Amino acid sequence: MRQSKVAVVTGASRGIGAAVARRLARDGADVIVNYTANEVAAARVVEDIRGMGRRATAVRADVSSVEEIKVLFERAAAAFERVDVLVNNAAVFEACALQDVSRAAFSNIFDLNARSVLFASEEAARLMGNSGRIINISSDLSCMAMPGTSLYAGAKAAIEAFTRVHAAELGPRGITVNAIAPGIIDTDALRTQMTDERIQGVASMTPLGRVGTPEDVADVVAFIASDDSRWITGQVLHVNGGVLMR
Ligand code: NAP
Repeated sequence: MRQSKVAVVTGASRGIGAAVARRLARDGADVIVNYTANEVAAARVVEDIRGMGRRATAVRADVSSVEEIKVLFERAAAAFERVDVLVNNAAVFEACALQDVSRAAFSNIFDLNARSVLFASEEAARLMGNSGRIINISSDLSCMAMPGTSLYAGAKAAIEAFTRVHAAELGPRGITVNAIAPGIIDTDALRTQMTDERIQGVASMTPLGRVGTPEDVADVVAFIASDDSRWITGQVLHVNGGVLMR
């Protein structure tokens, strides 16, 4: 990545988003570190990035709100004037079987996991010049049939569709749009859903014999954010250690 890129990473205080923010900074980007609740964790990411000699600003914004997405990009423009890379990472996992689905559960998941991607992409594209990278963090679950995941998988499938359509719409401006679909990655979100025993079970399903780390995903995001990925757009890359897909 050349020295002067500006990246906005949603949900960058913890987990995959924090690893992405740090990795993009290591590659020379200035970073807007978005978070919604954990100010201390966001401040730690900002401090690490500044320690690398790059600029960083933490911006609290709940990206499930279209109004707060606007504020996030107003703050990004005020801090760094433009955006070169958007990583739509913030999302929530909530298991919900069909008989338990409520309108509130639908909104909780779709407003954050899908709607935020659309409106953040719109805002970012406005601040991008004649080149840019939009990277949407999806999930292996978008193409699996795991009971209880219809809302989460459906929202992730929606952002994979956004990825293809936005790639077609923004390609003429030199903006690429890709999705990265991680498998099981060891983050706070995973630890609240799975016991150690289940995590080990999934690890044994991968040819590489382990679950992923946030850095495994961040390194692929860095490649897609770089100039080296210039001929890749509208794609969904599965970053899952080769775990068998059902
Ligand atoms: P995580 O550990 O739960 O971290 C979530 C991050 O998103 C935190 O920084 C959190 O901020 C932020 N966030 C949550 N709600 C937000 C909101 N409304 N507005 C802005 N930020 C918000 O999650 P993760 O496991 O790293 O997952 C990151 C992405 O990878 C998600 O898109 C997820 O669907 C995807 N993914 C994860 C896995 C996995 O196994 N972990 C697998 C496949 C896909 P606070 O710190 O302020 O709460």
